[in-house]
Amino acid sequence: MIRKFLHRIFQRPALSHVEGKAPRIIPFKQHGITPDQISPCALKVTEGLRHAGFKAFVVGGAVRDLLIKREPKDFDVATDAEPEEVRKLFRRSRIIGRRFRIVHVMCGQETIEVSTFRAMQPVVEGDDNSNTDEESGRILSDNVFGSQAEDALRRDFTVNALYYEPHKMEIWDYCHGVADLKAGLLRVIGDPARRYREDPVRMLRAVRLAAKLGLKLDPASRKPIHALAERLQDVPPARILVEMEKLLLSGHAVQSVEELRRENLHHGLLPLLDVILEQPMGERFVMLALAKTDERIAQGKSVTPAYLFAALLWHEVLTAWDKIQAGGERPIPALHQAMEQALDTQRETLAIPRRYDVTMKEIWSLQPRFAQRGGQRPFRLLEHPRFRAGYDFLLMRGESGEVDVELGQWWSDFQEASDDQRSRMLLADDVPKKRRRKRKPKAPGESAPAQGAAS
Ligand code: ATP
Ligand code: MG
Repeated sequence: MIRKFLHRIFQRPALSHVEGKAPRIIPFKQHGITPDQISPCALKVTEGLRHAGFKAFVVGGAVRDLLIKREPKDFDVATDAEPEEVRKLFRRSRIIGRRFRIVHVMCGQETIEVSTFRAMQPVVEGDDNSNTDEESGRILSDNVFGSQAEDALRRDFTVNALYYEPHKMEIWDYCHGVADLKAGLLRVIGDPARRYREDPVRMLRAVRLAAKLGLKLDPASRKPIHALAERLQDVPPARILVEMEKLLLSGHAVQSVEELRRENLHHGLLPLLDVILEQPMGERFVMLALAKTDERIAQGKSVTPAYLFAALLWHEVLTAWDKIQAGGERPIPALHQAMEQALDTQRETLAIPRRYDVTMKEIWSLQPRFAQRGGQRPFRLLEHPRFRAGYDFLLMRGESGEVDVELGQWWSDFQEASDDQRSRMLLADDVPKKRRRKRKPKAPGESAPAQGAAS
């Protein structure tokens, strides 16, 4: 017992640069963040908790973003109240999660995540109760409540361990986060290699947050990534996808993906990209899709993850489409089989949610229809609810060199043209009529040979 206790004390993780347990409290005068910059829902939660006698802070990304004058995406609250206590205080709330029990408090459309201060358990050799997988050092459960100081230390980066107390308008800084943010540094709390082993997703977050926030990854935090990169393969695909989706939709996707490749992190992360990025045509297309997404986000336009995933998987679809046609299948049925194949393969590794399938398939199956420029078909295509997405996709195919740019240009002109001009633009029907009449039921988009894959 005593041995175990001593073991525990001496095996505590090295948190060398962390300044004791007392936070530096930064007054309003120095940070200038007012409660009205916090979402009303988050404010309602912190106030409700405070009135009930609990500590309550806005924590993590939101405080960091406000300090660098960005609009936070979401607001998280940390408290010393336990999940059941939080649950009882707010009528529209529920406890979620098994590995990590948190409370979702809802107000209107908004949901605030409320988590109880937690402690990071040290790895103890030979301790069966340890919540860390001994061999890998990976954290398996993370549900031990602790003090606020402990809660700060278990977070990933110093700039993410900042707590804002709206009532007193104070920031509590446990790990020099404000100083790092001012210096433009993203720094892992504690020993980086150890923290990456505990949770390999932190490597991905390091790359994503550095790009998104314009911070430099501290050299000591960067160094172990190369050697530990392959550990990401032990992480469940669904968790990877959450981070990947954030990365791809961060507005800094090109930079992030380039950085992932430099750090050797793309392997196993986007398994299909391993292959695609190695084919010049596939790489051009994927990077173009990412650049367009970044551009749209910069312009404040909406982006749909399904469109982006359709782009990421397109060359996978093309390869399969070619192969199936080479086996004697007709173009359109071959395309449908290729789409299913590409989706099935990625599902095992990348876990793109099924809710995106319909849109992805629509965008893909519209592609051969753009090659049909005779009769009524172009007019019908214009009316298709996904025309715009399909057309944007076609333009990217042109720009990447996969299809003739002239085809995209024709469609741009066709949309602009008057009725008169449109009928003059129609091209001779290149569909062999005899073969068409022979066909039985028509699948959507079925009526002409497909645009040659990777032509
Ligand atoms: P974003 O603004 O992109 O959402 P974020 O830092 O807020 O970035 P979240 O996933 O919303 O990211 O996480 C909220 C907070 O939870 C983080 O700021 C950090 O303190 C903590 N956190 C998240 N993931 C981890 C992790 N893997 N290990 C340790 N702490 C984490
Ligand atoms: Mg966040």
